[in-house]
Amino acid sequence: MDDLFPLDAPYERVSVLLPLPLDGAYDYKADPAWGLERGAVVEVPLGRRRLIGVVLGPGGDDVAEDKLRGVIRAFDVPPLPGTVLDLVDWVAGWTLAARGSVLRMAISSPGALEPPPATQVLTAVPEAAWPPNVRMTPARRRALAALADGPALEPRDLAREAGIGPAVIKSMLEAGLLERHDLAPPPPFAAPDPDRAGHDLTGEQAAAAEALRQAVADRAFAVTALDGVTGSGKTEVYFEAIAAALAAGRQALVLLPEIALSAQWLERFEARFGTAPAVWHSDLKPGVRRRTWRAVAEGTARVLVGARSALFLPFAELGLIVVDEEHEPAYKQEDGVAYQARDMAVVRAHLESVPVVLVSATPSLETLENVRSGRYRALHLHARPGSAVLPTVELIDMRRDRPERGRFLAPGLVRAMRQTLDEGEQALLFLNRRGYAPLTLCRACGHRLECPNCTAWLVEHRLLGRLQCHHCGYSGRMPKACPSCEAEDSFVASGPGVERLAEEVLSRFPDARFQIASSDTILGPDQAAEFVRAVNAREIDVIVGTQIVAKGHHFPWLTLVGVVDADLGLAGGDLRAGERTYQMLHQVAGRAGRAERPGRVLLQTHVPENPVMAALAAGDRERFLEYETEQRRAAGMPPFGRLAGLVVSAPDAERADLAARAIARAAPRIDGVAVLGPAPAPLALLRGRHRRRLLVKARKDVNLQRVLRDWLSPIKLENAVRLTIDVDPYSF
Ligand code: ADP
Ligand code: ZN
Repeated sequence: MDDLFPLDAPYERVSVLLPLPLDGAYDYKADPAWGLERGAVVEVPLGRRRLIGVVLGPGGDDVAEDKLRGVIRAFDVPPLPGTVLDLVDWVAGWTLAARGSVLRMAISSPGALEPPPATQVLTAVPEAAWPPNVRMTPARRRALAALADGPALEPRDLAREAGIGPAVIKSMLEAGLLERHDLAPPPPFAAPDPDRAGHDLTGEQAAAAEALRQAVADRAFAVTALDGVTGSGKTEVYFEAIAAALAAGRQALVLLPEIALSAQWLERFEARFGTAPAVWHSDLKPGVRRRTWRAVAEGTARVLVGARSALFLPFAELGLIVVDEEHEPAYKQEDGVAYQARDMAVVRAHLESVPVVLVSATPSLETLENVRSGRYRALHLHARPGSAVLPTVELIDMRRDRPERGRFLAPGLVRAMRQTLDEGEQALLFLNRRGYAPLTLCRACGHRLECPNCTAWLVEHRLLGRLQCHHCGYSGRMPKACPSCEAEDSFVASGPGVERLAEEVLSRFPDARFQIASSDTILGPDQAAEFVRAVNAREIDVIVGTQIVAKGHHFPWLTLVGVVDADLGLAGGDLRAGERTYQMLHQVAGRAGRAERPGRVLLQTHVPENPVMAALAAGDRERFLEYETEQRRAAGMPPFGRLAGLVVSAPDAERADLAARAIARAAPRIDGVAVLGPAPAPLALLRGRHRRRLLVKARKDVNLQRVLRDWLSPIKLENAVRLTIDVDPYSF
């Protein structure tokens, strides 16, 4: 593999970063005629593997010429922009992840770099049209079978599916058993048209749009929080900023928390700009992924909307970044590189010298604190356009207005539903719990069904007839007899999930048409679009939904929102539990009464005096923010202090304990830094690994990353033990 070009060629050395959990780069030799520059994407050998890597610059001279291996090939794609390489360094430095692991996200789609896809596909010639006396072999038969009832295939896909080599395909073409067809090239990304007219903006919308247009025209780094009540037209306003970027000949990136379910967003974009934007998320088909990556790099995709991973795309001439629903926890990646995409979007904007807009009706405390301190600017939208008014929010005190035994809807909520349905309007019952019941227990002995791999209860999914673990994906059947006391058929459901709630709706309102909306019933963008259509065509009267219906959607006939367990998110010691609950409930409430008909929101709670509930009922966001801010400030918690979570895990509890204690013993004694733990992590057993956690709390002026690096990098762990570091953890 090293000998692809002659040994006497005038080599140049290049330093190549590989998408592996390593910080360092490797040196390779390369033909100078290739003119490899910083950012060039290359394929190189490592051991017996071939890997895709990125040239960081010239190599050093510490490896002898004859020991150095050669670059195999350079891909015909534009080099990664310096800003992307800088972003990789930045994210690695901030999250303490290896540089190579971060690079992996930037070239996460090696498919994106492969040469353009084949332009020809193969089909089988029907048997009636075969030439006489054709020879049939098992390999040929497999090829015909692979094409029998499927679509036409590219030669390499046929070879893979049928387990045959290129020679078989060639001979079948010659024998008249296969036919070749030209494939039309996929259409290029059409350019969105910034000059089409949007809505006539209201006064405050127009002012906000003008401020954003100005920021785009300035071509400088600036962070703007677009803070406006739900339905106030924030999307319309940032569309104007996108239009300005397009008119200036630059690209725009829009981050959405759940791109797969945003069909409505895409429709609105198309209505405004005449064409769909490029889309980026983890489920793209390889061909689309390849085309999109290239189109972003070459500048032919002008607007790209994507999930957090879109942040690492190699935009040719980025002019604007928008982070919609900036407060969403979905922006925090927990697995692998633990990064906050909203924060890293601000970093990217800084590196690119472009404006970034953080959009929300309930901005994160971090963003509000940055506004308060003057680092970010805020634009406010106070009103819904036209006649739409904000919904009224009322609390139902579950200690007084109790549901009957085995039921979950309080009489007050049932009455409101009846009234809504009588008026021909729609109701949403919100319960953020998938499945039938969160807990299943034995009536005879109280035994609870628990996941064998995690510290978690198994959740009954009655529609599927399974018990599932929502943490590791474990799935099993309901046992006939209790494993503890052997009583038969003794298991009963405890507490409601959306399926059980739907049962109650059915029994109370037998004529109402209802639909469960959860990630179990709405799979993918097509089903989401169909769901939205059915709601808006008034084919559904009652939606029983989890958080997937909480945001973004606009349902003109929906006038009642009932939150079945408003306290659900408050449990547990999570730093952001209150903030998150407030944001989520506010968001859900915003689904009600978005058109001419006024909306009503009922929150079922056992703690009406809780500041989150009180603020929601009073419609007083500032009151909640003041309370929450004071709590965090007093505790020195983010955004007023810094926090990192260290999770030590091992296949057995002893090793996890030993390693966690060793790490705690090595903790530095530094003014302004406190180490708490080790303690069992909230999911003390997860996917079969025992987990211990340490929390590192630091004053805001402490360089937490340096402290962690100095402390943790000398520590050697046994092979089976893993340490994951989460700077600014969201779940702990
Ligand atoms: P937000 O993003 O703040 O929730 P949207 O931009 O989604 O608000 O606007 C809510 C609804 O109001 C949408 O259907 C939108 O098309 C409509 N809308 C917003 N601004 C105007 C306007 N100036 N004139 C007419 N309709 C508007
Ligand atoms: Zn599990």
